[in-house]
Amino acid sequence: MTSSLAGKVAIVTASTAGIGLAIARRLGQQGAQVVISSRKQENVDTTVQQLSGEGLNVAGVKCHVGNPSERQALVERAVEKFGGIDILVSNAATNPVYGGLLDCPEAGWNKIFDVNVKSAYLLTKLVVPYMEARGGGSIVFIASVVGQIPSMGIAAYSVSKKALIGVSDLFAKECAPKNIRVNAVAPGFIDTSFSSVLVKNDSIRKSLEKSIYLGRIGKPEEVAGVASFLCSDDASYITGAVMNVNGGMLGSTI
Ligand code: NAP
Repeated sequence: MTSSLAGKVAIVTASTAGIGLAIARRLGQQGAQVVISSRKQENVDTTVQQLSGEGLNVAGVKCHVGNPSERQALVERAVEKFGGIDILVSNAATNPVYGGLLDCPEAGWNKIFDVNVKSAYLLTKLVVPYMEARGGGSIVFIASVVGQIPSMGIAAYSVSKKALIGVSDLFAKECAPKNIRVNAVAPGFIDTSFSSVLVKNDSIRKSLEKSIYLGRIGKPEEVAGVASFLCSDDASYITGAVMNVNGGMLGSTI
């Protein structure tokens, strides 16, 4: 049993900032060869330079997860550069619409489900044959606490994360005979640009902190450690799980 990822090849989507960057860095520190990706080439280049400078073995490619040819290019980059794929961390998400389901415009609903659910599903379909060829693998979907306790303020996003947990669960069943483990991580409030509207506002932040048992917002590195664990052989008997990384929130009202 080991948490080492030496010899493993990992793809992490949306990995030039926030939680994805922390996960990419952590997988690299555990010995994995990591393919960095996000929508903007300059962000990919900067991140590859930064992580290479830290002594990590990384490559990069531009990939908006909603773009089929860029998803294909992401997979091909991993195979060309590192010879295969063992790990996928599907981390990209969007949240362009605030409010309840009754107020969500169709275009916003479509965008949320395209990026948060459909692209994660389609990318998984692309990587599974490569994992199978290597005798197994590990897939981690970054969901959210609101996929378990839906929030009225971000209703469509909440439903998309609930759906993603469903995708994770079913892939876990379907891929188990291929020795591919599939799990979801459900972060609570984590200090990134994604949550900055809430986290940077003092009064909102204080009221959020009251709903968290540990009384504070989380750090991207605290999600990365759990994702890395799930990718490692230390988690060899864990599949179909949802790991809460929320400082203690279930039962709270959000
Ligand atoms: P973030 O800090 O806003 O991360 C942004 C990253 O995503 C950047 O690398 C950005 O680079 C990339 N990106 C954005 N849209 C993309 C797309 N369509 N395709 C590929 N890359 C894309 O966000 P985060 O807070 O780390 O969130 C990461 C994941 O955690 C998401 O799934 C989110 O739902 C989940 N989550 C976050 C929190 C939280 O409190 N932060 C809580 C629960 C769950 P480019 O601009 O170059 O594309």
